[in-house]
Amino acid sequence: MDDLQHFCELIPKIELHAHLNGCIRLSTFRQLLSSPTDQMRLDTLDQEFSLGDTHSRMANVFEKFSLLRSCVTNLDDIRRITRETLEDFIKDNVIYVELRTRPRSFHNGKIPSSSYVEAIVEVMKQFEEKICSRLILSIDRTQTLEQAMETLKLAENYRTYVVGLDLSGDPNVKSFERFRPVFDLAKQINLSTTIHIGELPDDECLNENNLIIDYKPTRLGHFNFRTNDQEQRVLKEQIPLELCPTSNILTMNLLDLTQHHFDLFYKNKHPLAICTDDSGLMNCSLSSEIFQVVQTFHLTKKELYEFMFETSNLIFDKNMIEFCQKKLNAFSQQSNLF
Ligand SMILES: [Zn+2]
Repeated sequence: MDDLQHFCELIPKIELHAHLNGCIRLSTFRQLLSSPTDQMRLDTLDQEFSLGDTHSRMANVFEKFSLLRSCVTNLDDIRRITRETLEDFIKDNVIYVELRTRPRSFHNGKIPSSSYVEAIVEVMKQFEEKICSRLILSIDRTQTLEQAMETLKLAENYRTYVVGLDLSGDPNVKSFERFRPVFDLAKQINLSTTIHIGELPDDECLNENNLIIDYKPTRLGHFNFRTNDQEQRVLKEQIPLELCPTSNILTMNLLDLTQHHFDLFYKNKHPLAICTDDSGLMNCSLSSEIFQVVQTFHLTKKELYEFMFETSNLIFDKNMIEFCQKKLNAFSQQSNLF
């Protein structure tokens, strides 16, 4: 194996943009997806995954994601996928991960969404010795304001493990303005926020970018499509970005990573995190994503180490920054980096 690739696998890593349902292992996905129609749909989707323009690619991603979500039907399933996801991250030498998920109830509300959150937190606690994992609760763009408010309340009730609030889902639905009161409340109670931004190349989406930047969330996800002015604002205001190479290349319809905005922001010393979004959905690992970046933009081992060290400052659970940096320090000494 390439020495640099091996280094990317060994270095302690931090994952900040992973949707729990998108991290389901392919084998588990196939097993939980019971109906033959869904199995066939998945086959077709996989074949068509990287065809067409941004809109049709995004539609494929969301359809696959909703299949992933549909195969989780009870608390045992959610415990299983949380456990397997954490096992996979541990294997990839990830030391800190923020998993995000939209809380849901099962069996027509008989099992409330609080049980869903508790089930995940329970598994996270079991893995505490091996990986530090935290939860971000997602608000879906198609939800109502009341539902979003419920999610915020849930986040408040599980503050030790829930470290943030996310806005995600179909970017054709422009709803940040509608959810703004919820995100304002999040700020008031000091809950960190991350918002998917600039996912489509249309005017409406670009307009919504302004509203999101005005709000100034703690971090932004993707920022694929943007105006020069928006780019300058994000640079100036130093709003950290979660960049997801494979996912971004796919949905932006790029030839390869050389066309990706990592370079621009990295050269400007902007706060960045490289993330998967998500291992199951994109069939990747955090190591492979990082290796792609390092290889394309010719980062040295030392530069990658410094990059990861800076990323540790962006985690939502500020109590764990020292933990991450100690792990990174120990690694640099072991590998005689300096
Ligand atoms: Zn995402």
